[in-house]
Amino acid sequence: MSVQAPGYIRAIAPYQPGKPISELARELGLAESEIVKLASNENPLGMPESAKQAMLKEISELGRYPDGNGFALKQAVVNKYDVPMGWVTLGNGSNDILELAARAFLAPGDQVIYAQHSFAVYALATQAVGAQAIVVPAKDLGHDLPAMLAAITPQTRMVFVANPNNPTGTFVTHQEVEAFLSAVPAHVVVVLDEAYNEYLPPELRFDSVGWVKRFPNLILSRTMSKAYGLAGLRVGFAVAQPALTDLLNRVRQPFNVNSLAQAAAVAAIQDQDFLQRSFELNRTELDRMQAAFAGLGLRYVPSFANFVLVQVGQDDEAGMRVFNGLLKLGVIVRPVNNYGLPRWLRISVGLPEENSRFLEALKQVL
Ligand SMILES: *Cc1c(COP(=O)(O)O)cnc(C)c1O
Repeated sequence: MSVQAPGYIRAIAPYQPGKPISELARELGLAESEIVKLASNENPLGMPESAKQAMLKEISELGRYPDGNGFALKQAVVNKYDVPMGWVTLGNGSNDILELAARAFLAPGDQVIYAQHSFAVYALATQAVGAQAIVVPAKDLGHDLPAMLAAITPQTRMVFVANPNNPTGTFVTHQEVEAFLSAVPAHVVVVLDEAYNEYLPPELRFDSVGWVKRFPNLILSRTMSKAYGLAGLRVGFAVAQPALTDLLNRVRQPFNVNSLAQAAAVAAIQDQDFLQRSFELNRTELDRMQAAFAGLGLRYVPSFANFVLVQVGQDDEAGMRVFNGLLKLGVIVRPVNNYGLPRWLRISVGLPEENSRFLEALKQVL
């Protein structure tokens, strides 16, 4: 007899990551430096120098296990967000936080709600524990929070909300989120995924950490992979009240965040200068990219993050066609068929010269 796996595991469609630069360079016979990758919403400035220095200092300690409690990094989160240390959970990327939440709070058959066209990991985390996904249709490609609220039943245990959302770049205002949180029944855990929070313009920022103090069923998820520039190290964190935090930590691997990652994250989270430069570069280049799309007569979703979703054709092959055309020119972007968006592509905002190369290539392909 062959090995057995539950049907809900066999049904999982694997996550499709952005194509690696090294892979395309091999295929085209080009140097890696000639490839432009705008496919994974990474920080085009790379990692902060402060984080690099912190890692170099840490390297001689790698014979030892990491601090399983992540004291220094939690302290940095506490200082920045003014929450008690017992409210912080560290993750191997915020992907880990999403999975910890699913493992801690869901049993097979429980219902989980998330929006159509929202982040792919919600489906993966839900399916991995045998829970039942309830996918609520998007409104204007974004979250329809009133409809998500209406979808809650006595069997619902969790709702995932991405704000801003990936891959659409849409944003729901703090008034809408607050009204939603106030109305969600106490038996439902809300995971509010704010991976792109640092890219919001100042007038749209709001005190989501403050909500954690008011709503005992809220888990706030943040990442160091995007604006903080540490995607390769895998660091994220959750902020939630102690009862939820305690449960998240029961299913957490004891050493889930490695020593180099902890050291780098402590430095990066305090590096206000790097964060500001990342924000400003993104604002300028996002505006330029969106203006270029408008100039080409392309429909796009006005973005609140560090990427933009653009419609590249009127037929369901358009996304893959243009994606493949760009690849031949050494430009990697992200197809989003797996999100039910086959006419669209998601483009991460890069350095000015990278965006220019992408825009030139796009004109050529179209
Ligand atoms: C990129 C992303 C994450 C997580 O990334 P990690 O690198 O695992 O921290 C989480 N949520 C959304 C919506 C994202 O786009």
